Amino acid sequence: LQTGAAVLPAPVCNGLTPATTEGPHYLPNTPERASLREAGMTGDPLLVTGYVLDANCAPIPGAWLDFWQADGNGVYDNAGFALRGKQTTDAQGRYTLTTVIPGLYPGCTEHIHVKLTAPGGPTVTTQLFFPGTTQNDDDGIFVPSMLVTVLDESPSAMSASFDFVLP
Ligand code: FE
Repeated sequence: LQTGAAVLPAPVCNGLTPATTEGPHYLPNTPERASLREAGMTGDPLLVTGYVLDANCAPIPGAWLDFWQADGNGVYDNAGFALRGKQTTDAQGRYTLTTVIPGLYPGCTEHIHVKLTAPGGPTVTTQLFFPGTTQNDDDGIFVPSMLVTVLDESPSAMSASFDFVLP
């Protein structure tokens, strides 16, 4: 019996992660934290996990992920750092984002923004999207290859995965 060693999922390499627009809501100097969820925040709980991989599908430890998103009402905090945070991948190249499901705002389907930077590599700015959202088809920024894979769709404990591939 093995103890202490979690079984990790196999990495999913679907080609290089495409860049999408940064949009108007990015703020630099994001606090370093993996959990963006705070008491009283609007939005259903969401956990997103996955790898950051290189072009050969090898996990990248120490890659930065800088996330920002709207709350469950589609509102960004542009005065502070609510729902903003950066983290690095662990020794297995994994990240864990604890957050809330983002809401719609005019013209935009549900999405989470992220900037990814491997050690010594360029920064890729992109967005994660959610399957089954009818507004995906109406959002000009929507990229089907950036849909998360839903692991658990319980309303109170939604979890999803996405593996990024950097050049
Ligand atoms: Fe946005």
